[in-house]
Amino acid sequence: MKEVRFVTYGCKANQYDTQVLREALARRGWSETDKDAELVVVNTCTVTAEAGRKARQLIRRLGRENPDVRIAVTGCLAESEPEVLRELPAVDWVLGNGEAKRPTNFLRHLGEEVDPEEVGIPAGITEFAGHTRAFLKIQDGCDMACAFCIIPKVRGKSRSRPLAELVAEVQRLVEAGHVEVVLCGIHIGHWGRDLGLELADLVRALAEAEPRDAEGAPLDFRLRLSSIEATEVTPSLLALMREHPRRIAQHLHMPLQSGDDGVLKAMNRWYDTETYLRACEEIRAALDRPAFTADVIVGFPGEDDAAFERTLETVRAAGFARMHVFPFSARPSTPAYELKGAPKPEVVRERRAALSEAAALIGADFRRSLDGAEETVVLEGTVGLSGRYQRVVVPMGEDLFPGDLVNVTLKAEASDDGEVSLRGERAATEVNV
Ligand code: SF4
Repeated sequence: MKEVRFVTYGCKANQYDTQVLREALARRGWSETDKDAELVVVNTCTVTAEAGRKARQLIRRLGRENPDVRIAVTGCLAESEPEVLRELPAVDWVLGNGEAKRPTNFLRHLGEEVDPEEVGIPAGITEFAGHTRAFLKIQDGCDMACAFCIIPKVRGKSRSRPLAELVAEVQRLVEAGHVEVVLCGIHIGHWGRDLGLELADLVRALAEAEPRDAEGAPLDFRLRLSSIEATEVTPSLLALMREHPRRIAQHLHMPLQSGDDGVLKAMNRWYDTETYLRACEEIRAALDRPAFTADVIVGFPGEDDAAFERTLETVRAAGFARMHVFPFSARPSTPAYELKGAPKPEVVRERRAALSEAAALIGADFRRSLDGAEETVVLEGTVGLSGRYQRVVVPMGEDLFPGDLVNVTLKAEASDDGEVSLRGERAATEVNV
């Protein structure tokens, strides 16, 4: 049997793209392995210099370990550095995002036969192998031009997938056993602009989907928005989240990038800190203790001590449940690559540590505030993931199994070192679908 190994770097959209290719090859009799294989598909990321370095290193190692291996490199690095990749030993194909988005093209390159009936299939996936939560890519590309970001160059303008196709895919994924579906993409707040629709239209249609089991009984599931700009959380989207607190996770990952207005401007972001914090307040007023998570970049050119202090103040005011702190990575062909005034590496390291320390304290405060909140938890053993993106310990009863979606009331428990953990008590009455 023909064996293929997949290695994926980067974001949820990339993981989704790998799943599309995985299913296309599986339909042709390829079986997947995580060891030596005759074919390795490396789906790359180029968002940071480090992501590119790791992929190149892996490709070199694969070629050294098995000179007969055939490697297909795809994804964002294949768009931004095709020449460099082509020079690497054992690389047979460098297929950019355009090729990988159309699995039929991808298969043709690999010398696989393409059934004409399948030409329309890039329409999606049927499962997310080995995961309780499935990713659903609802759009690709981005129309913005953040100074640090290479993504619009390697993924193009925003293109939305059709609503009916996505509703069918959610049904399919839930029926395949996934109790949470995470809506992902490159700029999901722009879903629908090219279709005369808005994101709330899609979320409503997905929230009202009616997946059923083999006996025809309704299946329960939860939706989550993966990453959305604070300025794109519209009143209609908020109203929907409020209307369906169980079906739509009360969690918004809203990239902040910097908490200083001068740095935001240099980044070519389109909001200031006041606008961002106002959005947080409006969302808090509409929902019960929503969780906010965010990405923050430290060490962007021009970020001086005062700007960093303001970032600390902003993240405290936003009250993030969790933060992803990244050091700035200058990418060639982006405007930020040319900017002067980047802080020294040791300063960036200190700021990253200070921000991570602040994030831990702010996150503990948020967990404390959740005492008494009602939640849904997807069980993954005795610890599950809540709608508000918190790890919650749920005592397993005989009637509970990994992968179940249960209703709980949260109890916050503080330890002597100030850490706060969450326990979930089964709600007396289960609210169903
Ligand atoms: S919004 Fe900005 S950071 Fe996000 S993908 Fe678009 S250009 Fe990149």
